[in-house]
Amino acid sequence: MQKNPDKIVLLIENDAEQTRIIRAMFDDQGSHSFTLTHVECFRDAETYLAGHPVDIILLDLSRLDLGSQESSDPDALAAVRRTRVTAPHIAIVLLSSLDDEPKAIQAIHEGAQDYLIKGQIEPRKLMRTLNNAVERTAVKEILTNEKDRAQATLNCIADAVICTDMADKITFFNPVAGSMVGWPLQEAVGRHLTDVFRIVDATTRKPILDPMKKAASENLTGKLPLNCLLIRRDGHEVFIEDSVAPIHDLEKTVTGAVIVFRDVSAAHAQSEQITHLAEHDSLTGLPNRLLFSDRVGQAISLARRNGGQAAVLYVDLDGFKQVNDSLGHSVGDKLLQSVAKCLLACVRDPDTVCRHGGDEFAILLQDINRPENAAATTRRILNALGEVHSVDGHQVHVTASIGVSIYPDDGSDAETLIANADAAMYWAKKNGCQSCQFYSPELNVCALESQLTGEDLRLALERNELTLHYQPKVNLKTGAFIGAEALSRWNHPTRGTIPPGQFIPIAEESGLILPIGAWVFGEACAQARTWAEAGMPAKTMAVNISGVQFQSEDFLDGLFAALNKTGLDPGLLELDVTESVLMHHPERAALILKSLRDTGVHVSVDNFGTGNSSLSSMQELPVNAIKIDRSFVRQITTVPGGTAAVEAFIGMARSLDLRVIAQGVETAEDLEFLWNHDCDEAQGNFFSRPVPPDQLTKLLRPN
Ligand code: C2E
Ligand code: MG
Repeated sequence: MQKNPDKIVLLIENDAEQTRIIRAMFDDQGSHSFTLTHVECFRDAETYLAGHPVDIILLDLSRLDLGSQESSDPDALAAVRRTRVTAPHIAIVLLSSLDDEPKAIQAIHEGAQDYLIKGQIEPRKLMRTLNNAVERTAVKEILTNEKDRAQATLNCIADAVICTDMADKITFFNPVAGSMVGWPLQEAVGRHLTDVFRIVDATTRKPILDPMKKAASENLTGKLPLNCLLIRRDGHEVFIEDSVAPIHDLEKTVTGAVIVFRDVSAAHAQSEQITHLAEHDSLTGLPNRLLFSDRVGQAISLARRNGGQAAVLYVDLDGFKQVNDSLGHSVGDKLLQSVAKCLLACVRDPDTVCRHGGDEFAILLQDINRPENAAATTRRILNALGEVHSVDGHQVHVTASIGVSIYPDDGSDAETLIANADAAMYWAKKNGCQSCQFYSPELNVCALESQLTGEDLRLALERNELTLHYQPKVNLKTGAFIGAEALSRWNHPTRGTIPPGQFIPIAEESGLILPIGAWVFGEACAQARTWAEAGMPAKTMAVNISGVQFQSEDFLDGLFAALNKTGLDPGLLELDVTESVLMHHPERAALILKSLRDTGVHVSVDNFGTGNSSLSSMQELPVNAIKIDRSFVRQITTVPGGTAAVEAFIGMARSLDLRVIAQGVETAEDLEFLWNHDCDEAQGNFFSRPVPPDQLTKLLRPN
């Protein structure tokens, strides 16, 4: 086994007798292994230390000569101090006279390890003292290194650290903590934690109980509640996240607590943003249906507690699709933003406006006293929305239909209240645009009934509940009524007249459109023939053809059979076929159109402009006319610059030698514009709504 090297002892002693005594003790050191070196003064000691390793300095306090020629009374304390600075790893043991004992004690405070009283020293005691001094110095060095490392770590970590004692007074904090709380260390140490570390709940603003006190008194590690705000000395606030733990001494007794915390404001802001995105509509910034439903739930709870009421308004824009189709999505989007602003301006602060879907908005009116309050807000909204919206240089008009449901009468939970407001809106729309409807249970009964089926329609056909109304067409050159368009109606026994928009899709889905279409042909041709027989000048009859009919094998046979049966001149029959039907199967369309042309039946492209027709595709199809969709005609007066599309369509039709029919003419301005731009024919409510045959007969008959 390798023997530990001897510990080197440097004796600083200028008394020869004392030196001899000490030397003698080292000669007889038993199991200890010290090597003794001797110098007479401190200056020599410093020279020696500069070139040799030394473990212990044995220093005679009373006889110390610092090495200065002049100094007859060397300052032993200064010597100890100097050694602690220049060689902190060397243990210092003092030799003192009894008289000098107070000075020896003072030297211990300065960093010496121990002292021995001269004249009372015996060899074994000297060796033991030296041994202990070396070991203590080594342990102290380890502890000092550990402490320095811990200090350096605490000073450079990104987290803030504060330590307190059992009285909750601050004993330490690192620079990050200093900058986060806004206090310098010197000022903060000794203060009560709550003076320096002020934390509140971000939502309630209530102070959060001192977390360190709990950790220290209950000896528990823990965390601050979420949503915790630290208020800096200058009032600036940051979100923090932390952990708190008790501090123990060697006996495992709690001596204080440590809190480690960090600024999580950025993460907090990010999570707030994510929550905001999940709960809001990105186009308008309004709450979405998720958040809305939540707010309605809260309003119900509040109203339940206070015995109050709350209202849900379901707002659906009328004619938004036309704006979108005709002016483009960008204008549509801006219109929705403008509507959102307008709705917000119509409600109070605690109310919520939400975008519920495409062009649908929902509004929660909190804590209303009576349904009349909701009615007043509804009126305000209808008026405000009816104002012109200026969007991208366009003056756009929209109106809305509003359904209203009231808590507690119309539902006790959010889902029911919203669904009932929606149902009421549906009836408001049916009653005519720009109107409002309060919910009543009867509406729901009607709504259930409103689920029309193919079976209902089959029965309707059997029971002759379908009729045709006719809308006259006018020749713009002569001003004369030159014919009519046949438009189906369903005279429902309990629900009154049902428009084709509500049953033609069911007819198409169920295949009933084929027998219905055949019936329409027969009926319309017979009517046209009746007018001819009554001696009226020739009047054309336009009939709408569904895509399903157009695809059917028997389409032409059925048509010719109706013409034969009624004896109507094929030249008086005009078929309205939409662009999309023609474009979908161009080869079949070309074949059918050719047969029709050969027989003299005319074909018009219905709802022109709403599909994707190109000039070249029109050129290839033998059609006779285009019917400009009413959404474009409507723009002539409602949208600045809205005449461009109609002008372009007329120009295009001219170049292809096609007739142009404008649909949906509602105002004298529309008519004047069309007339000035050489449009051939027009139909629309300005001349007459679709009417039953006897009324049309009166219109067509020249006076
Ligand atoms: P469409 O062929 O575009 O017919 C014109 C529609 O515009 C009619 O609606 C008419 O009432 C309406 N209208 C006419 N002038 C004006 C106006 O000045 N202002 C406004 N706002 N509207 C006007 P209706 O009768 O509700 O017909 C809707 C659609 O149902 C028709 O559109 C047509 O595509 C289809 N349809 C009607 N009857 C039949 C049918 O017997 N067979 C097939 N397959 N479809 C039909
Ligand atoms: Mg039509």
